[in-house]
Amino acid sequence: MTTVAAYAAPAAKAPLERTTIERREVGEFDVLIDIKFAGICHSDIHQAREGWGEAIFPMVPGHEIAGIVSEVGSGVTKYKVGDRVGVGCLVDSCRECENCKAGLEQYCTGGNVGTYNAIDKNGEPTYGGYSEKIVVDENFVVRIPDGLSLDVAAPLLCAGITTYSPLRHWNAGPGKKVAILGMGGLGHMGVKIAHALGAEVTVLSQSLRKKEDGLKLGADHYYATSDENTFKELRGTFDLILSTVSAPLNLDQFLSLLKTDGAFVNVGAPEEPVRLNLFSVIGGRKTLAGSGIGGIQETQEMLDFCAEHGFGAEIELIKADQINEAYERVLNSDVRYRFVIDTATI
Ligand SMILES: [Zn+2]
Ligand SMILES: [Zn+2]
Repeated sequence: MTTVAAYAAPAAKAPLERTTIERREVGEFDVLIDIKFAGICHSDIHQAREGWGEAIFPMVPGHEIAGIVSEVGSGVTKYKVGDRVGVGCLVDSCRECENCKAGLEQYCTGGNVGTYNAIDKNGEPTYGGYSEKIVVDENFVVRIPDGLSLDVAAPLLCAGITTYSPLRHWNAGPGKKVAILGMGGLGHMGVKIAHALGAEVTVLSQSLRKKEDGLKLGADHYYATSDENTFKELRGTFDLILSTVSAPLNLDQFLSLLKTDGAFVNVGAPEEPVRLNLFSVIGGRKTLAGSGIGGIQETQEMLDFCAEHGFGAEIELIKADQINEAYERVLNSDVRYRFVIDTATI
């Protein structure tokens, strides 16, 4: 075991504080990663505050991890000391079910292991990226291409793949009209990726406050959903709407913006169940769907895609002692567009 410094929530809703945790010895197929940067995802806050149900404490959140390999197990073939690597939301899965075999580890039916707030195969709780080092099986580690700085790469491990996977699955590309609903951590990545895929991109945001940013990041159009005219003007427009918001929505109203055979895909999740009139999908043969992160291979593909197109996330770099303040700012949508912790300050 190795003792490493970390920031942890000692109990639900308690502020995070500096502490130490134990990392397992580097096993045959493990890599030890010196974490350099860790992104703050909205789901870190949901979990640290038990917004999604009972959680494991103390909790070290963080599933947007970028760092450097500092040791490898004897059986490791994919990585060597000095490699630039990332770890996202998963650190293991059953590896045997139909989904795992298809590279869809995020939908593992045998039980996958979250990067934090989960129980690992050895029976110990997992601790995430707000820490100095992490030990991960090489099969759940991805390579960060040289063209991508580690700080702007970190948020790609959750925000990037969460938007990339559905945009690819629903064929965002040339000739397709894609709307990104919400202009936060996920939304801003959705805009960049959909634009890079060649789609015509519209941002649907509550207000026009971030319009200039949205257009700069690659959006072709930008509308406020607080304006009723938006729904009249854009009726029947989109092939795909990607919703990144976790606030309750009037789904019937948003489904009316789809073309025939269009899809409304949720990657943000409200805490309460939703209501809709099913005629909103019956008329126009529409799809209401969801999507969760992405598999390991697809995460690698996403990183390579972002590097090839020369972009990472838009970030605000913070010190570890600013985490609690950053949480409050995320809750107030006061971040452009992802906080990233410089883990050297832990
Ligand atoms: Zn996340
Ligand atoms: Zn599985």
